[in-house]
Amino acid sequence: MDDRTISTQKRPEEVAVDAALRPKNLADMIGQDQLRDNLGILIEAARLRNEALDHILLYGPPGLGKTSMAHVLANEMGVNMKITAGPAIERAGDLAAILTNLRKGDILFIDEVHRLGKVVEEILYPAMEDFALDIVIGKGPSARSIRLKLPRFTVIGATTRLALLTAPLRSRFGAVYRFDFYGQPALEEIVRRAAGLLKVEITDDGAAEIARRARGTPRVSLRLLRRVRDYAQVRAGGTITRAVAEEALALLEVDQQGLDDLDRKLLRAIIEKFDGGPVGLETIAASLSEDSGTIMEVVEPYLLQLGYLDRTPRGRVATRLAYQHLGVVWTGDVTSPTQQPGLWDESSELP
Ligand code: ADP
Repeated sequence: MDDRTISTQKRPEEVAVDAALRPKNLADMIGQDQLRDNLGILIEAARLRNEALDHILLYGPPGLGKTSMAHVLANEMGVNMKITAGPAIERAGDLAAILTNLRKGDILFIDEVHRLGKVVEEILYPAMEDFALDIVIGKGPSARSIRLKLPRFTVIGATTRLALLTAPLRSRFGAVYRFDFYGQPALEEIVRRAAGLLKVEITDDGAAEIARRARGTPRVSLRLLRRVRDYAQVRAGGTITRAVAEEALALLEVDQQGLDDLDRKLLRAIIEKFDGGPVGLETIAASLSEDSGTIMEVVEPYLLQLGYLDRTPRGRVATRLAYQHLGVVWTGDVTSPTQQPGLWDESSELP
């Protein structure tokens, strides 16, 4: 499923491009105004007190800028950042090695922080709270525990699944911020800025067309930009206009709303096989031969955001808007309220 053009998941081959396009400071971070203001205050206060930043948890769907924001914070604070991810820290010793290499003020960025193992998490608690590392030396009756002092450092955790974070870990973060999908103007600006950095000629309505189909997600907007750039170079003399963007995106089967084949298949499955729902996530996943976690994390948030899908305690329901989008006659309850576009939040993690 990760070969989808509109996939929000990080891809290894994109890391270098991502780094080149990544915002360097807070002013380069486009959109998320409230979050930016809050973090600006946090940075200023820490600088004034000459202290390390408080531990920060960033959550929200993939591709919205959590990693970029961590880089920006490190840059603004003028400190080093060590990057790791929950599944990469397998043993307690791995974390101890990372922690003992940190210097005062450094940032430890832990992506997918909800995937840390229990033993590793328990080492992290005193490290975050007391800046101490408890190490057991020896084995059996002669084993003893010693406490190493660590410099004051900052953990920035990022997660797409806030609900999966354990309560003790969550409580160790002094500041918790949520990333929301981006609006059209912010995405247009992101596309134009990236086109400038990539030295691609693009018209304003070309940027608008790409932004419109980017699922509210910067990572998707940048990926679409690169694919449309290829098309423009090969077929249209290099400049991305609205018409060029439309042709290229039609070839990629990304529709007007930014839905691709898998999104449409999911909605069609609910409508055609399950009578519009409600139907459980596992059942849908099985009918599409896809992994339920990935469907929940990468397909559904945007469909919920558009108001095409509703998550109810009894399962997923395709809304009237979904029927309209697919051109299928609505057969649902005409007395039911029209669906409002839903926002992504952790309550979205219903069965
Ligand atoms: P996440 O960590 O949430 O999955 P990333 O920080 O890796 O997302 O962002 C994906 C890409 O989108 C990055 O290459 C970055 O350049 C771009 N990006 C994300 N947010 C912004 C933003 N607010 N302004 C400009 N570019 C952004």
